[in-house]
Amino acid sequence: MSKTIQAIRGMNDILPAQAPTWRLLEDQFRGLMSQYGYNEIRLPLLEMTELFKRSIGEVTDIVEKEMYTFDDRNGDSLTLRPEGTAGCVRAAIENGLLYNQIQKLWYGGAMFRHERPQKGRYRQFHQLGVEVFGLTGPDVDVELIILTARLWRNLGLQHEVELQINSLGSSEARQNYRQVLVEYFNAHTSQLDEDSQRRLHSNPLRILDSKNPAMQSMIEAAPKLMAHLDEESKLHFEQLCALLQHLGISFKVNPRLVRGLDYYNRTVFEWVTTRLGAQGTVCAGGRYDGLVAQLGGSATHAVGFAIGIERIVALLETLSPAEISHCDVYAIMVGPQAEQQGLLLAERLRDALPTLRLQGNLGGGSIKSQMKRADKTGAILALILGEDECSQQQISIKFLREERQQEKINQSELTDWLQNYFINQLS
Ligand code: ATP
Ligand code: MG
Repeated sequence: MSKTIQAIRGMNDILPAQAPTWRLLEDQFRGLMSQYGYNEIRLPLLEMTELFKRSIGEVTDIVEKEMYTFDDRNGDSLTLRPEGTAGCVRAAIENGLLYNQIQKLWYGGAMFRHERPQKGRYRQFHQLGVEVFGLTGPDVDVELIILTARLWRNLGLQHEVELQINSLGSSEARQNYRQVLVEYFNAHTSQLDEDSQRRLHSNPLRILDSKNPAMQSMIEAAPKLMAHLDEESKLHFEQLCALLQHLGISFKVNPRLVRGLDYYNRTVFEWVTTRLGAQGTVCAGGRYDGLVAQLGGSATHAVGFAIGIERIVALLETLSPAEISHCDVYAIMVGPQAEQQGLLLAERLRDALPTLRLQGNLGGGSIKSQMKRADKTGAILALILGEDECSQQQISIKFLREERQQEKINQSELTDWLQNYFINQLS
């Protein structure tokens, strides 16, 4: 027997048992995007390596050590996208989407980073992202936050996540703050770990983001960026906070929130959970008003975020270990006559109620074994067609998830009956 081949470390199969949870999130997100008027954009998985170096920043974890980069047959250096923003900006510039226009875009798909695989951290992972171009905010910053808040509510996750916000100010303000920070860390070099020593001159803000327990108290005491904001950014941030308060969205200002990519300015935010251990950030974003110009477009305001799908799925799984149902109604058919009649009936139901998830029993079996299969699908109702029902043009309805007497109705009344029963679920 030949040796079996395994998947690449950190790259997961999404198995049929998990797929309904993925789809639930993706469907909810899609619905939300159309509700708020965002358009989908589909982007390549591969881009020129230069794109990520110029946008994400040379001295970031991603560019320094996490990219899947290779030379293709022409000798061009290509990289599997580690995130979606850079490609989206590239596409928007290249296709002229930014001339005097507002663009509200979303995308979803696989991202690739060569990180150490662990719970909530993979080498192929998936994001749902949003990017808005042409608006200065803070109204749009708030819209992005409020639509994510709605998503958590729709998924029943509103009590699991907390909103953290910060402002990174203008790039000039950040340059000034950087000086202050370097001086502070210089006075504490003995406490800096190896990574931070290296970052001290290349990217000192990232030291604030360090998870090293030994450095925490020293970092806590570091000067705060908030105290060095430029006037305009300060106003922007105050307006943002006021709008969030007005909308009843609770948040925490986290002065250490700096984000791992270089292109952010002003508003940054993260939705964080305590239920997933160290990998607690489920959604992260912010403004990046300088990036379009940095990549060769004309100066364009921009803001966006990305949701880590695997982490939301993991959160959903902690909430409802019971499988998420992928069936509403299961049709049980006993005997050849019932199978014939049932097939036709099921087709008519699918015509009349296109959103009803209806599975017809396949492969025969006793009523008992069919009932078992019905239960396993998570169906709410079983429709039973036996010999009696067949000859009387009737159908029995068994309630699988509630204590309720079985009913028998005429087949001609079934569509109306189901529509009535599922009125909430199907609307
Ligand atoms: P972290 O601090 O967890 O490394 P990040 O700042 O690198 O996150 P972003 O680049 O902002 O993450 O990506 C947005 C979201 O994508 C994260 O909040 C997270 O939910 C998800 N994500 C990022 N990297 C991974 C990964 N390797 N595996 C799974 N999800 C990831
Ligand atoms: Mg990371």
